[in-house]
Amino acid sequence: MTRKIPGSGLAKGLAVTLRTMTKRSVTQGYPEVAPELPPRSRGVIALFEENCTVCMLCARECPDWCIYIDSHKEVVPAKEPGARDRTRNVLDRFAIDFALCMYCGICVEVCPFDALFWSPEFEYATDDIRALTHERDTLRAWMWTVPAPPALDERAEEPKEFAMARRAAEKLAKERQAGPGTGEEA
Ligand code: SF4
Ligand code: SF4
Repeated sequence: MTRKIPGSGLAKGLAVTLRTMTKRSVTQGYPEVAPELPPRSRGVIALFEENCTVCMLCARECPDWCIYIDSHKEVVPAKEPGARDRTRNVLDRFAIDFALCMYCGICVEVCPFDALFWSPEFEYATDDIRALTHERDTLRAWMWTVPAPPALDERAEEPKEFAMARRAAEKLAKERQAGPGTGEEA
């Protein structure tokens, strides 16, 4: 059995203190200093409601049933005589209960219209569980905190949405150049 030298523990502790006191601190002074979060952090779910078609897929696939959507139908009158009126869904309510949400990301994955995004925002803690249900205005405001997507690889294929928009803009520019009455008839 080895005998301990009296005061050796204290000496060890002091050695650790001396070794670390000159090193740079790794802690951050939150909330004065905002943390640097990875861009793909799952802080909160943001809604880009302009893209939402009220297809209900996210609410149906959510394992926790914590997405609440209300909508009504609206008639869109036909643009041309003889054509049929159309109906479209109008969003009345879109809310997520973050007290139930388990941050699985299924809703973001399944949305076919790119209306849901992860935001690194995390400062929405509260001591009232009812205040964790956030409505569309808050979810929409969180869109401003969603990081921009990473730049495309320069050799990547042009995304089809960009290609379509570019071709439409080129066609319009040609028609304008050619003057009125020369556009293709529908
Ligand atoms: S992250 Fe998962 S649990 Fe949360 S709302 Fe989306 S699907 Fe539901
Ligand atoms: S899946 Fe997307 S488009 Fe459909 S209701 Fe949900 S957010 Fe809206």
